[in-house]
This record gives sequence, structure tokens and C-alpha cells, in this order.
Amino acid sequence: MRVTLLGTGSADGWPNPWCGCPSCADSRRRGTTRRPTSALVDDVLLLDLSPAPPPPEVFLGGVGAVLVTHDHADHCAPLVLLARQWVRRHEPLTVAGPPPVLDAVRPWLAPDDPVELVPLAAGDRIDRHGYSVRVLAAAHEVATVLFDVTGPDGGRLLYATDTGPLPEGTIAATRGAAYDVVLLEETFGDHLDHGTGHLDLSTFPDQLDRLRAVGAVTAATDVVAVHLSHHNPPAHLLADRLAALGARLVPDGTTVGAGALL
Ligand SMILES: [Zn+2]
Ligand SMILES: [Zn+2]
Repeated sequence: MRVTLLGTGSADGWPNPWCGCPSCADSRRRGTTRRPTSALVDDVLLLDLSPAPPPPEVFLGGVGAVLVTHDHADHCAPLVLLARQWVRRHEPLTVAGPPPVLDAVRPWLAPDDPVELVPLAAGDRIDRHGYSVRVLAAAHEVATVLFDVTGPDGGRLLYATDTGPLPEGTIAATRGAAYDVVLLEETFGDHLDHGTGHLDLSTFPDQLDRLRAVGAVTAATDVVAVHLSHHNPPAHLLADRLAALGARLVPDGTTVGAGALL
């Protein structure tokens, strides 16, 4: 399983183009940008519909299924599906997510678009193109799900954004998973009183501890922090903070590997 991070940023991206804080200024100086978070698995499975075009080397023509966590605008941008229609891709496509996602997507589809809409809720399982995806509960402001993806090669990925501290049932569902890759959100950095359904540098380590305690995260798991906002320290400082927790950050466009095809 190859997991390409199309975006690793929060809703506003990092830098936020309107913001002059040191973290945004540092990103601008280095010429780095973090798009809203989404990921592409083996060119077949697209996780979240980011409003930002992916890095230029990314081709989405092989995507057979799109799994959307929730209907917030940084994860559910149906214009992306209209762009697909404009190039007349006639291969069938599955779009799956909580019902509000399907309601948002439906008006953007042409009547003859071969798109299958599949409602998802925590506890469901969806199998497509050799991938088996378990749908897990998140703790977020709106109906949101997380994805536990097992690939045809046995590689296993946890895609966990957007969420606050993970529900007990989600931790229980990951017992023994020994994920190859965990993409866990860490939106707010040192901004701790945000009062939202997101993680920060105080709650992110707790979730990793809980995932380790049930064998979901092991010494071999590649833990990558995503949904990163400018509330975080500049990237080189954040990298050290994450390294101390057994996690890392990667630039947009990075491919991380899981399972036999690594
Ligand atoms: Zn988000
Ligand atoms: Zn959200």
C-alpha cells in the first residue's frame, strides 16, 4: 500500500494566506504550503475531497472510490467531481461518506455520471477494488467518520481526521490492528483552549498512548501528523516535538508505504 499525502494542512492551509504570524511567515519564507488534508491510496482510493488541487505530479484518473469523512468544506468539495465529469471519465466511481456528504455531492453530478453514492456510519464496512474499509466514529462537530483501510497487499492504514480525543469505541475497534501507517490529525499545536473537535499538542500524545496501549500503534507504525494549522510551531520545531512522540510530519506530496509493496 502506498499512501500519498495530497494535503497535510488544516481547513485554511498553512500558511493561512491572510495571516502574518511567525509560523505562517516561516512557511512563506521556505516556500512550503500545506493544503487541506486528503490522501490517495495506491492511486485507487481517495480519502477526502479537498478544495485544493493536489500536487502537480498527482493523477486522479485511476481513482475508483472516494471516501469522505464529513461535509466540512475542507473535506467535501464537490467541485472536484465536476472537474472529473468535464474530462468525461466514464469509469464507475463510488463516493461514500455520512449522509450529509452525499447530499452535498449529489447536485454536482450529471444524470449520466456513473457515480454510486454510499451512505456510511460508524460500524459499517465497505469493500471496493480489493480494499476493505472499516468505518470508525470520530469526535467532531458534525457527523464524521474515520477510516481503517486494509489493502490487497495486507497493508493497513488508519485515516483519523477530523476528530478530538478518540471515542472509546474507536479505540476498542483498533485493538491489535498494528497499523502500518497512522495519519492522525494535530490541528492546533500549542493553542490548547480552542474548544473544538480537534487535537493539539496536548491531546495528540494521549491518543497515541491509547492507540499504543491496544496494539493499534506499534514500534513499526509510521505515525504522520496531518491537518496541521499555523497554530503549530514552525515546521522545523514541530518536527522535533513530534519526533519525541514517535510521530513525524511530511511535506505535501509525500508517499508513505505500508505492507508488502513498500
Ligand atoms: Zn478539517
Ligand atoms: Zn471538520
